[in-house]
This record gives sequence, structure tokens and C-alpha cells, in this order.
Amino acid sequence: MKEKTMVNNNPWKRAQKQLRKAARYIKLDPLTLAKLSNPDRVVEVSLPIKLGSGEIKVFQGYRVQHNNIRGPYKGGLRYHQKVDMDEVKALAFWMTIKNAVVNVPFGGGKGGIAVDPKTLEELELEKLTRQFTRKIADFIGPQKDVPAPDVNTNPKIMSWIKNEYSNLTGQDSPAVVTGKPIEDGGSQGRTEATGLGGVYALLTVLSKLGKDPKGMSVAIQGFGNVGSFLAKFLQKEGFKVVALSDSKGGIYIPDGIRDIDEVKRCKEEKGLLAGCYCVGSVCDLKNMKNLGGKNIEADKVLTLPVDIIVPAALENSITKENAEKITAKIILEMANGPTTLEADEILQKKDVVVIPDILANSGGVAVSYFEWYQNLNSKHWGKEEVFKKLREKMEKATGKVLDTSNKYGVSLREAAYIVALNRIQEKSQNILSLK
Ligand code: GLU
Repeated sequence: MKEKTMVNNNPWKRAQKQLRKAARYIKLDPLTLAKLSNPDRVVEVSLPIKLGSGEIKVFQGYRVQHNNIRGPYKGGLRYHQKVDMDEVKALAFWMTIKNAVVNVPFGGGKGGIAVDPKTLEELELEKLTRQFTRKIADFIGPQKDVPAPDVNTNPKIMSWIKNEYSNLTGQDSPAVVTGKPIEDGGSQGRTEATGLGGVYALLTVLSKLGKDPKGMSVAIQGFGNVGSFLAKFLQKEGFKVVALSDSKGGIYIPDGIRDIDEVKRCKEEKGLLAGCYCVGSVCDLKNMKNLGGKNIEADKVLTLPVDIIVPAALENSITKENAEKITAKIILEMANGPTTLEADEILQKKDVVVIPDILANSGGVAVSYFEWYQNLNSKHWGKEEVFKKLREKMEKATGKVLDTSNKYGVSLREAAYIVALNRIQEKSQNILSLK
């Protein structure tokens, strides 16, 4: 791989470039820039586990605390075989920026374990999670650093963390993590929040562009928690979801995929999305022809002839190799860091409207904030109330980014950085003036 491509595909290097570029627009003060150029702290732990088979395996765990100028470190934990320090550093940095864009009182952090959780039994996963919690326990806490779900982690895992941490500290501490099951202090609406927040951001942008969402076609790459809820809520708003994919393949029905819930059930049952052509409750490849469908490879979903594409999987799915082939005019980035720097430049030249990750997927952490707030103040909001508050947050953040983009004549990504850096700088200077 050429040196330049390596820099662009390394998420941490890319994050630093994005930071320096945005810093120039607002003449960010050098001290704040220096503070954001490196994480405050990185924690790396070794996690030896005895598997059910008797075999001993050692996993690496990470927690990166990027910055806490605006509040406790906040961000998810990812369980994936490709997790490494540079990835986690970039993801933690993007959380600092994201939390400032959506205006929640948090800094940024991220963590993860380099493991493919699908290869572990539930008990092994629990042991791994509990050991990880013990090893990072000194660094986390409701006012210090608050983890949450991310790729391949879920409410059950959050509940183990809450339980292990509470046992260690001798105090019931639901606010140490968010994204918990409701019965463990989780918030209504947290599971749906990232997907739904993306819909609110998209609707706000479309209304500004004077476009009617009804009938607009959408292709989504990634059918985990985020992609599946997004598909459902988009459909509810009148969008036509035509393609869905997971890491192994996808389905494409130009007339529109009808029952997203059935597709989800099919994927859960079979373990993969390919072939989930559903008529009523019968999902089978045999229905493909009747529905006018076509099988599609996972990496082709983003280059389909549609109005909107949604990368909702991992980093680097839009690269200089496929950016030229993208015909959609709008991209909603639901994954973190899906677009490389080179691809971003190509898309800008093609006048594609990219709704950036640090805005588009911030609904998850927005409702994490609501969860944390409810835990600390013994409140229990209903789902309607949470969704209403989420809508307000997303519309406000998106409106601010759109205005900033107009004011500076920059892309929505650059505008989101400008909004975030201004807020961080303001807080940083307030802290300094107290000293
Ligand atoms: N993992 C999610 C994200 O990337 C949510 C983080 C959180 O709720 O703290 O934004």
C-alpha cells in the first residue's frame, strides 16, 4: 500500500488531519489544539480467559479517554477482531467532537476488545466483560468515564459492566454505563436512538434542500442495531428502502423492501441477510424473482442507482476506489468514519451532500445522555418523551451545522467540526480563566 493511502485509511491519522483542517477555519487557540491532538489517557489491558474447552486465550482490551473539557469521557465499547489502538483513538476523538456537535455535557472516549464475540459462548463473553470491567474500573465512573454499546455490544453486556462495577465499588451505580436494559436502569428509546436520530438529521437536511422525502430511494450497508432501526423509521417516513446488506451479502428490491421486521427476523434466524426475500412471514430466496429482486454483494450496495446511501457498518467503506462510482446525491453516515479523506474530496467535487457521522449518528449518545441524566436524578421518562427530546436535539444540532456550512461556505463535515471546536474552545477558555 502506498504511504498516502495508508495515512488516509488509518482512522487516527485521518482524524488528526480533519482536526487540523477545521482548526484553521476558526483559528483554534494552540493550547486547545494541542489538547485535542492526543488522547488524555490510553489504557491497554491483557485479558486471559479460560474457555469452556479448557483452552486459555488472551485478548487485548482498550479504553481511550480522549478529552474531558466538556464533561466526563463518553463513548462506546466495541467487540471486534479488528479493534486496535489507532482505531480506538480515532473513535474516541470522534466522540469528543460528536458530543460537542449534539451538545451533550460529555467529553469523548471509546474502548473495545479485539475479539470476534460470535466465536465465544455467552458465559465466556460474560467472563471477558467482567474481567475487562475490573481492569478499567479505576478509570471509569458516572462522573469520570461512561461506556456504552457500540459494534457487537448490547444492553446485556452493559448490564454485566454495571453489575461488576457496582460490586467492586460497593455501591449501586447505574450511571457508570448507558445502553442498559430498561430493568437495570436503561432509558426507554435508547436501542432505537441512533437509527431514529439519523432519520431526524436527514429530514432536517432534506427540508432545508426543499426535497420531499416521500418515495426517495435508500440503500443501507450494515444491518445491525443501527441499520435495522434506521430502515424501519425511514420507511415509516415514506422513504423507499430498496437495498440492505450485512458483511456477507445483501438483498436488493428496486420496488422497495416491504417488511423490514420480517427481514430482521430472517437474518436473526439464519445468521445472514442474503436470501431474506420475504412475502408475508415466508422469507426465502425463492421469492426473489416474484419481488423483482436481485442478490447483491455487500460492497456494491453503496454504488446502486438510488437517491440516498447509508454506510452503517465499519470505517473505510467509502474509499477512492468506489467514490467515483457513487451516484446517490445524499450520504447519511451512520457508521463512524466510513469515508476516507480521498473519498471525501471526490464526493465534494461531485456535489454530494454528506451528512457526517459526527452529526448523523449522534442520536445514540444523545439518548445515552438522557439515560445518564435520568439515573442521576431518579427520573423515568416514557418513550414518547425521549423521542421528542431526541428530535429536538437532532433538529437543533443539524440546523446549527447547516447554518455554519452556509456561513463559512464549507461542507457539512467541516461545519460540524467548526461547531464542535467553537464549543470546546469556549469551555476550555472558561476553565483556564478560573485558574
Ligand atoms: N457507540 C455509540 C457512538 O458511537 C454511542 C456512544 C454512547 O452512547 O456513549 O456514538
